[in-house]
Amino acid sequence: MTTGFIDKAALAELAASFGVSLDETALDRFDLYAKLLCDWNEKINLTAITDPGEIVVKHFADSLSVLGAVSVKEGASLIDVGTGAGFPGLALKIARPDLRVTLLDSTKKKLLVLEDIAQKLDLSVVLLHKRAEEAGRAPLLREQFDLATARAVANLRELAEYCLPFVRVGGRFLAMKSAKTEAELDEAKAAVRLLGGKTATVHTVSLPEAGERTVIEIEKRSTTPAAYPRPAAKIARFPLK
Ligand code: SAM
Repeated sequence: MTTGFIDKAALAELAASFGVSLDETALDRFDLYAKLLCDWNEKINLTAITDPGEIVVKHFADSLSVLGAVSVKEGASLIDVGTGAGFPGLALKIARPDLRVTLLDSTKKKLLVLEDIAQKLDLSVVLLHKRAEEAGRAPLLREQFDLATARAVANLRELAEYCLPFVRVGGRFLAMKSAKTEAELDEAKAAVRLLGGKTATVHTVSLPEAGERTVIEIEKRSTTPAAYPRPAAKIARFPLK
């Protein structure tokens, strides 16, 4: 069903520029997602971006840029940490329904919104209402995922402690960042190593009228020591060095 809310051709073109091909089912899902996001946003604060054209670029295309930056194998498992209104996790699930996607957030009402949206989009995702630093210690979640993604959740040093524990050895943590990342990356290097990761590549992607973004790809080389992740207060007060 199409609502005519977004310009589907514009989204298809942007996605294609990242090498992502969206079929009619995916485009209809994005269209309905944008409409539901705006409807829900009138009741609870989910996003400051409500113009359909901006949603296409700053939420949908930005999320899909991950697939332009790295190749993701068929059926991979992915956890989106601090998913909020589903970015990038739910957008990736629309583009790639083969992915096994878990959406994690510490805010219950956001997950209730995502439950409604995923059900209306007829997509199967796992919804987890948990804090990342607690979930990362749970045996059923720890080192279980091929990929962990996060956008706009914390600085890289803290984010690595939230995300790397979820990634299996051989998997990858993908941090989406908007601004210049060199200083942040430098500051996070020791933490990434300590948590079992190795910075592989910084991918730059360009979004029309939204500037440059980066996807920082971190490989998981060894298991995360049992001491991590620490409680949130410790992560914030004593970031890993
Ligand atoms: N990733 C989404 C996006 O880019 O639109 C949402 C970004 S929003 C600024 C940050 C989200 O991270 C919020 O929904 C918040 O509840 C969640 N969050 C922050 N710290 C968290 C933690 N320790 N564990 C789980 N979720 C967390």
